[in-house]
Amino acid sequence: MQHFPIFVALAGRRVVLSGGGEAAIAKLRLLLKTEARITVFAPTPEAQIETWADDNRLRLVRRAMEPGDAACAVLFYAADEDAAEDARTTALARADGALTNIVDNLADSQFITPAIVDRDPVTVAIGTEGAAPVLARAIKADLEERLPTTLGTLARIGKSFRKMVEALPAGRRRRDFWADFYFNRGPRASGEDEISQTLDTLLAEHMAAGDKAGHVAFVGSGPGDPELLTLKARKALDTADVVIFDRLVSPEILELARREAVMVDAGKEGFGPSMSQDQINRLIVEHAGAGAQVVRLKSGDPTVFGRLDEEIDAVDAAGITWHIVPGITAASASVASIGQSLTKRGRNSSVRFLTGHDIKGFADHDWKVLARPGEVAAIYMGKRAARFIQGRLMMHGADPATPVTLVENASRADQRVLSSTLGRLSDDVAGAAMDGPALTLFGLAPRDAADVVSNMTNEQEFA
Ligand code: SAH
Repeated sequence: MQHFPIFVALAGRRVVLSGGGEAAIAKLRLLLKTEARITVFAPTPEAQIETWADDNRLRLVRRAMEPGDAACAVLFYAADEDAAEDARTTALARADGALTNIVDNLADSQFITPAIVDRDPVTVAIGTEGAAPVLARAIKADLEERLPTTLGTLARIGKSFRKMVEALPAGRRRRDFWADFYFNRGPRASGEDEISQTLDTLLAEHMAAGDKAGHVAFVGSGPGDPELLTLKARKALDTADVVIFDRLVSPEILELARREAVMVDAGKEGFGPSMSQDQINRLIVEHAGAGAQVVRLKSGDPTVFGRLDEEIDAVDAAGITWHIVPGITAASASVASIGQSLTKRGRNSSVRFLTGHDIKGFADHDWKVLARPGEVAAIYMGKRAARFIQGRLMMHGADPATPVTLVENASRADQRVLSSTLGRLSDDVAGAAMDGPALTLFGLAPRDAADVVSNMTNEQEFA
């Protein structure tokens, strides 16, 4: 980020602008929305600027700027549309200590003015660091359309009501009240009286409603790509008080969680230091028991190798309500990335989800059945168990030429596909040095390499 967005307090403070043409008028239109004391230097100003001066909305000085003219100014705009004059006035203003902007000259400006969506007191500033003014305008138009025109009035009246709302307990109850006001009941009221009336009624309703009980949502976050999050997962994240997440949940998805939500890293991983399952269970129960809406966020689908049942048992034992939001499991994302199906007529009519590891160590399975031709298995946590799995399957007569594919970081930008065979598996895995989570697809090879473009971003895909 080369420009840091801030909102400058301008009420009663001095802003100086040099210029009297179109560029000056455009900037002044924006500045006149503030309560700044504006001085314009222009030997030959346009009529519009004279009118503003006559109406006492700004002070007009009919000459070019001189040293000391920008004394005490917070901001200075060079809007003469003449490179030499702009450089001269800017140097003067800098000497006076003002922060300077040259219209349409990003490189020599100390600050730039964003595109603005004005629902005063709600103001949205959009910046692209000069890279894409078209984009800024499109975002502005989009927001203009989405934010009700009454939003400013709602916010202004709402602000004067804040003290009253302290009658509700801080936290969720107050947030619910304001969400109800801004997004539901407020926009339906018309006129200031009706809006004030709505606030009164709404507060009485929310006071009467009492506390909501805590609740736990076991939510699947998918394999990592935030676009593979379900709408229900998104909604649960939007309303969570507390999000307890695993190590494998991607940072992009955590970004989407509500800003005010308490984020708890349960750091559960197969190997190395982590919070014990008992600690996690206790944590979930503790938060929900205190009345929080808890999202227990698990990578992929919570019902697949997620120790979900232990957590449900703990929540049940505490008499807390819960529900499950399914997610896209790593196996689905992995086969999708190699352009294959998990099942196929004439090849396999069943597919196994296996874990390479369980609490006791390498997990044992019905290797004899798996060793038969055409079998397909999605092996989770199979990287470290590669040699073990290879040994067991070969011992039971599996063909060393059986394809095995590892998909690391499925659906993420750093996705990698390792195409191997049972015979070469452990050597290939050792050589690939994968540090991300990887899914082992036994019995599947990437569809004809020419047809599959793995590791592709969405933009590329749809370009
Ligand atoms: N509930 C999860 C699985 C958790 S077990 C799900 O449904 O996907 C953890 C294992 O899942 C990892 O060891 C790895 O084998 C697999 N995994 C999770 N995310 C993955 C990803 N983005 N790419 C490949 N494998 C992944």
